Amino acid sequence: MDLLALKEWFEEEKRILPWRENPSPYGVWISEVMLQQTQASVVVGYFERWMRRFPTLFSLAEAPWEEVIKLWEGLGYYSRVRHIYRAAQQLVAKNQGELPSLRKELEAIKGLGPYTVGAILSFAFHERAAAVDGNVARVLSRHFFIEEDIAKAKVKKNLHDLVLSLLPQEEPWVAMEALIELGAQICQKKPLCEKCPIQKSCLAYKRGKAHLLPVKKKHSPITLLTRYVPVLKFGEKLLLRKEKTGKVMADLYEFPYFEQEISCKEIQKIWGIQAVFRLKLSPVKHTFTRYRAELFPALWETTTLSSIEDCHWIEMEEAKTLAFSSGHRRIFHEVYAAFTH
Ligand code: SF4
Repeated sequence: MDLLALKEWFEEEKRILPWRENPSPYGVWISEVMLQQTQASVVVGYFERWMRRFPTLFSLAEAPWEEVIKLWEGLGYYSRVRHIYRAAQQLVAKNQGELPSLRKELEAIKGLGPYTVGAILSFAFHERAAAVDGNVARVLSRHFFIEEDIAKAKVKKNLHDLVLSLLPQEEPWVAMEALIELGAQICQKKPLCEKCPIQKSCLAYKRGKAHLLPVKKKHSPITLLTRYVPVLKFGEKLLLRKEKTGKVMADLYEFPYFEQEISCKEIQKIWGIQAVFRLKLSPVKHTFTRYRAELFPALWETTTLSSIEDCHWIEMEEAKTLAFSSGHRRIFHEVYAAFTH
């Protein structure tokens, strides 16, 4: 592989991204975790808001959890932010608010996988460390024509060793980031081989088989969910509930929902309150982990304010500051816009 050509291409074409300017271990950690399931263009805003509010591990560790999860709202896979928050508190208590620079100590932090550890060691501590994400795995499997399933642990280990063998002694972090960038910008799912700086030595290109690689086992099938969402309004308050710990959407606010449409009578039976149907709201589709949910919200008004198990009556202005799961956030925005404009 022509690393010189790769580095030259990188210096000229790399995207200007906020986490690349003076990368700190903490900044690399946050950006890399955010980037795991989300495109860089979307992460930019999240990252900048996060670093403005929590510029250090200390500021993160002492912030209220509600505020932390609110800044993650919409990024999904919320166990990641839970791990970050817990780790920040542990690092403040035991490591003077610093991320360690030793691989073993980084690996001991819950939620830090091999890719993130490698990225922190490489980009922040400038070590010769491999960080193999989906981009790098795609480039390597094509360039070296690896036809094995890249999700297999053995293949992952081989790719890790292969990257390590490629990294130069001098500025290895630049080559590492260049490989990632090549996967993100050129060797994409549909590769742009004509623009690729390592095309000359690429086996998949020579064999006309780039589109067949990498080999990846099929994901488990998507489960479709249908949910009916009665949005109960009492004056300026809405009935919300917070998902319990252990659930996919733990700590996020949602409207109560059911698998069947519910009637006025059923609302009375379930919650012991009388409510009047007002209107159907816009249906919402949203995808999370391996689910695709279709939500059918409807607005109901009640004149009875009784306490309901596991639910809270929350003022709309306050609800605006809470973290919602993404489908329910869209429902909330519609209701909020209708009643506050
Ligand atoms: Fe990917 Fe094409 Fe470059 Fe090979 S030549 S590394 S397939 S972009």
